[in-house]
Formats: sequence, structure tokens, C-alpha cells
Amino acid sequence: MTIRVPESNCPVCSYRMRCSLPIDGGGAPRPGDISICGNCGVQLLFNDDRGMDLLSNETKKSLDAETRQTLNDATKIIMERGYIVPVSSKFPQR
Ligand SMILES: [Zn+2]
Repeated sequence: MTIRVPESNCPVCSYRMRCSLPIDGGGAPRPGDISICGNCGVQLLFNDDRGMDLLSNETKKSLDAETRQTLNDATKIIMERGYIVPVSSKFPQR
């Protein structure tokens, strides 16, 4: 089920995000939950300001192997598909 979230922009591609699709069947995302930008595939972390930050390598290393693999698989699929919304020319095109 898609859940509306406060609008925020991807810190990498500036894609405007307004909804979330929890893969664990949970409710609205909370600070500390992990996400992926559906436009560029970057791995993100919901922050305390109801926005998203880049997922740090330190946090990523703290995840179990299955979760890391799921994240990497999803990012790969999105990157191979390419952007769904064109991004500024300052970002590399794939
Ligand atoms: Zn993005």
C-alpha cells in the first residue's frame, strides 16, 4: 500500500518524493527507516526532519546481509532502468 509522506527531494537527483511503498508491510516511515529513490536508485535514510539523507556506509554496514543485498538489488534495477524523470544537467545521465 502506498503511503503519503511529507514532500522531500532526493539529495542526489532532486526527484520530489511524496509517497512511500513499505516493503515490510509496515505503516508510515519513521526516522531511521531506509528507503531508495525511485528515480535514481540512491539509498536513503528517513531523518528526524521528515526528510531523507544519504544512507551512510557506516549505517549500511550495520545492516544484515540479506537487507544489504535487497537494497543493492533494488538500486541495480532502478539504475539499469534509468531515470523516470529527467534530472538537471548537473547530474550525470545514465
Ligand atoms: Zn534520486
